[in-house]
Amino acid sequence: MGIEKSTVEIAPGIRHIPGTPVVISPIDKIINWARTGSLWPVTFGLACCAIEMMATGASHYDLDRYGIIFRATPRQADVLIVAGTVTKKMAPMVRRVYDQMPEPKYVIAMGSCACSGGVFKTYSVAQGADQFLPVDIYVPGCPPRPEALLYGLLQLQEKIRRESKKWGCWR
Ligand code: SF4
Repeated sequence: MGIEKSTVEIAPGIRHIPGTPVVISPIDKIINWARTGSLWPVTFGLACCAIEMMATGASHYDLDRYGIIFRATPRQADVLIVAGTVTKKMAPMVRRVYDQMPEPKYVIAMGSCACSGGVFKTYSVAQGADQFLPVDIYVPGCPPRPEALLYGLLQLQEKIRRESKKWGCWR
């Protein structure tokens, strides 16, 4: 008997064996589900956008309800929110923080400065975090409101849900 006939689909890709407490699911789905519910951004702000990032984490917007909790060390974080203007002098330090984070890790460029240099088209400012980091999500605005960062984080969760065989140290 095929697995489709002996089980019931209770959610996309998750099947229940009737009469038992057993569900069957691809391991990708379980790992991605756990990962989306526990995104931990490293506490790291560069300029004015960081104030909006802090507001997003505060009680009014309450990132905790999504399992998104700021960590004060890159070694226990899996998201780097580049919040603010990145000068060329600061870029190597931002990169170092990223390099210290364990895999799998993600980057959100928050604000026009982190996305493209913003209004600072000068010799001293990096014209976008993607010049030295693999950016996953861009959140435009100067500054973007907390709702915009929240939307960016939800988009990141959506991206993680679609990942396949990205199992960190088990690869
Ligand atoms: S995008 Fe605007 S608010 Fe954000 S760091 Fe740049 S100048 Fe400041």
